[in-house]
Amino acid sequence: MNRLKNKIILITGIGSGIGRAAARSFCQQGAIVFGVDLNQAAGDALAGELQEYSFHFYQADLSTEAACIAAVRECSDRLGGIDVLYNNAGISVIAPLLDTDAATVERIFAVNFLSVFYLCQQVIPIMQAQGEGVIINTASELAIVAQPLYSAYCASKGAVLSFTRALALEYAQANIRVNAICPGPIDTPMLQAEFEIDPDPDRSRQQGIATMPIGRFGKPDEIAEVALFLADAPPLLHGAAIVVDGGKTIL
Ligand code: NAD
Repeated sequence: MNRLKNKIILITGIGSGIGRAAARSFCQQGAIVFGVDLNQAAGDALAGELQEYSFHFYQADLSTEAACIAAVRECSDRLGGIDVLYNNAGISVIAPLLDTDAATVERIFAVNFLSVFYLCQQVIPIMQAQGEGVIINTASELAIVAQPLYSAYCASKGAVLSFTRALALEYAQANIRVNAICPGPIDTPMLQAEFEIDPDPDRSRQQGIATMPIGRFGKPDEIAEVALFLADAPPLLHGAAIVVDGGKTIL
């Protein structure tokens, strides 16, 4: 129960799905969790649920550099450092290329990729001063394989994976471990919202399940468990893209 006792973890996107499951799991392992989300109500609700733990909610829209700088400063000033940065916040857009306007593609890059870039840029000096640190970035199976109608999303997650690898090499000798998680379909509000676009969401959901070799979607807790593992993994686990997809991408 105390795998991460008193480790300070900044997790983004804790209001829903994978981030919420991860905030719970890290708290249960004794970590001090600084959870960031756009959604005030969802963050407040989680803070209420996690009262017995060291959970600190901070509301922010991480789509700007200024917001990322402020979030890292607040975490570090309030809690005294950052041992693990878990970049999880993200959005998805499903649209044909020709219907994807500039505002949409800029927003998806700002949230899915630029927030990761700016947050890493801010935590690296803190981790260097500490002499160690862990960064976990959330890419996707769609950083590795592609899917029609996901061009902006695929590109943003490809950027996260490529950036993760470059960062891992740049800081390979700094005692800062950098890895990416590439989830397959995980049963969260994001995934359900994608089915709701279809006129027949139940059929769309069943078609999605049919693409899963294990016969079901992933669960948020399963990704949280991988994030926990990455948070205290051996130093050799560095620069990796951990695909967690029930075998979908090897089918
Ligand atoms: P979700 O929609 O259930 O939760 C995402 C959370 O991020 C929400 O609480 C939302 O408020 C927050 N968020 C969104 N924009 C934000 C912003 N600008 N600033 C701060 N917070 C913001 O999604 P999820 O399914 O839990 O996905 C989590 C991560 O995993 C995302 O990066 C997603 O792309 C990735 N992912 C998910 C799946 C899947 O099938 N669910 C698959 C591959 C990758």
